[in-house]
Amino acid sequence: MMIRSDIRDNVMAGRRLSAEEGEFLLSPLVDPHEVGELADAAREKKNGPTVYYNLNLHLNPTNVCLYRCKFCAYSRDLGDPRGYVMSDEEILARGREATEAGCTELHIVGGAHPEKPFEWYLGIIRRLHDSFPSLHLKAWTAVEIDHFTRISGRSIKDVLQEFIEAGLGSMPGGGAEIFDPEVRRKICPRKADADRWLEVHRTAHRLGLRTNATMLYGHVETVRQRIDHLVRLRELQDGTGGFQAFVPLKFHPANTLMSHLRPGAAIEDLRMTAVSRLMLDNFDHIKAYWISLGVGPAQAALAYGADDLDGTVRHERIHHDAGAASPDTLSVDRLCRLIVEAGREPVERDSLYRRVDRK
Ligand code: SF4
Repeated sequence: MMIRSDIRDNVMAGRRLSAEEGEFLLSPLVDPHEVGELADAAREKKNGPTVYYNLNLHLNPTNVCLYRCKFCAYSRDLGDPRGYVMSDEEILARGREATEAGCTELHIVGGAHPEKPFEWYLGIIRRLHDSFPSLHLKAWTAVEIDHFTRISGRSIKDVLQEFIEAGLGSMPGGGAEIFDPEVRRKICPRKADADRWLEVHRTAHRLGLRTNATMLYGHVETVRQRIDHLVRLRELQDGTGGFQAFVPLKFHPANTLMSHLRPGAAIEDLRMTAVSRLMLDNFDHIKAYWISLGVGPAQAALAYGADDLDGTVRHERIHHDAGAASPDTLSVDRLCRLIVEAGREPVERDSLYRRVDRK
C-alpha cells in the first residue's frame, strides 16, 4: 500500500503527525521504502547532509540487578557466580583506557545491585570525574536514578543534584522499554513505571541535564503501544526541550526469558527508525545504534531518517549478552567510511552534539 497523500502533505508542510497517522505508517501493509523516503526528507530538513558519530567507551559497573526484567540477558541475581561487581581500580582503568583512546565520553549503565549503597554509585562518578575531568560522563538510566532515590531516601532532584556536583554530564535514555503498563507488567514488572521514568527525565531537564530517550521494540508490544510511547516522549519534549536523541532499540531475544520470540526483520527496523523520525518532530537526532541494529542495517538506517551512528563503543555487554551479532567496537575510519558510503558527511560530535575538531 502507498502512503496516504494527506500524511505526505503533512510531513512536507512540517505539520505534526497524529497517533493515528503514526500507526498507519507502522503498518506492515504500507511500503517501508516510501515511509523511509519521507523520513529521509524530514531528516534532511533538520540535519542536512551531516551524520554524527563520537568516540566513546562503555562501562557497566555491575550486572547484579534486583529487577531481573524478562528481556534482559545481562543481569544476574545476587550470589550467581556469573554476577560481577567491578572494583574501583577496574573502573578507573576503564576511564584511563577511554582517555588514552581519545574518547570524549564514557557511557555508564548497569544493574540495580541489591546491596550497594547510594555512595558507591556516587563514588564511581566522583572518582572518574576527579581523575579524568575532560571525559564526559553520560551515566545512569532513569530506572537507576529511581533505584538511587529508593536506597538513599532522597528525592529525584536531590539525587540528580548530587550526581551533577560529582561530575555527571548527561543521562542516557535506557529503561524506557515500552511505556504501556500492560507491556511493563509482562516484561519488567518490578522496576520504575512510565510516569516515574518521565518524571526523572523531566527533573533532569529542569536541572539543565540533557538526556536521550529509547524504546525497546519487537517483543510483545503492539503498533499502537509503540506509537503511544513516541507520543508520550514528544509531549515531554514539548514541555522541556531536554532530549537530544531518540534511540530505537531492537529487541534481541537470545539468552532471555523471552527467547521463544523471533528477532524482527531488518526491514521493520528501518521502518521503525523512519517512523521515529516522522513522529518525533521535536527531537533533533535519531540514532542508528549499530550495536543493536547490526552494522549493515544501521548504515541503511541513515537513509531512513537517522542522523547519528553513535560511537566507537567497546566493552558493550547489554545487547551482546542478548545475542547481538555486532562487533565489540568500530574504528573511526570504519564509522566514517560507513557514513560516506551512505552519501553523508561524517562529523565527530561530543556528548552534547558540539563538533569536535581534532586538527
Ligand atoms: S534491564 Fe536493567 S533493570 Fe532490568 S534487569 Fe536488566 S539491568 Fe536490571
